[in-house]
Amino acid sequence: MDTEGLRSARLEMVEIQIAARGIHTAWLLQAMQDIPRHHFIPPDLQAHAYEDRPLPIGSGQTISQPYIVALMTELLDLKGGEKVLEIGTGSGYQSAILSCSAEQVHTIEFIPTLAKKAEENLKTLDIRNVFVHIGDGGLGFLEAAPYKGILVTAAAPVVPAMLLDQLAQGGTLVLPVGGMTGQYLQVWQRQLGELHVRDIIPVSFVPLRGQYGWKEDA
Ligand code: SAM
Repeated sequence: MDTEGLRSARLEMVEIQIAARGIHTAWLLQAMQDIPRHHFIPPDLQAHAYEDRPLPIGSGQTISQPYIVALMTELLDLKGGEKVLEIGTGSGYQSAILSCSAEQVHTIEFIPTLAKKAEENLKTLDIRNVFVHIGDGGLGFLEAAPYKGILVTAAAPVVPAMLLDQLAQGGTLVLPVGGMTGQYLQVWQRQLGELHVRDIIPVSFVPLRGQYGWKEDA
């Protein structure tokens, strides 16, 4: 597909898969029109970049379905200019979307080759407010805490306590929690010193690894 073909596929994706399903945040719809998702996908799969599904990105991992990227971002309820933490950099696409509203995005990836590739992807698009770190994101990133938004793009058996600890007053944490094969998307909010949680929809994410995640052979 040529550049014009990819652009019109992207605009159609935003209209049919995102806006028509109820995502209404203006900056987010604009970001999904502007950021070329195909740029974050291996060359042999780029023609599928605007389909309604996750795609493999190597190392057994995936870039999430566009609608799920949009839904998780909208649930963070960013107003602009916040500091955000993402766990599970993968291709870097979700970070690129977040970078259109946040002042700073810190993103942590467990698999070094994916982190390096994501960094390249973001650099090529001249995105300068995303900082990619290699490590166990379940532990968060204390150096830049607290965060107004924390988004986890891998499935956790329980909500990692260290992420809740790094959530700012009035902050929101969005993550899939549940079993290896199916989870619920949960939203945690810290309001007036108390934590509130709600379940949104059933989802299916790759497993979180590390201290708060699933063991390699699980
Ligand atoms: N947000 C990504 C994107 O836009 O391409 C998709 C992420 S993919 C669904 C989940 C990612 O979480 C994988 O790249 C996986 O290696 C990573 N991951 C799993 N456990 C992790 C952990 N404890 N810390 C950081 N990253 C982790």
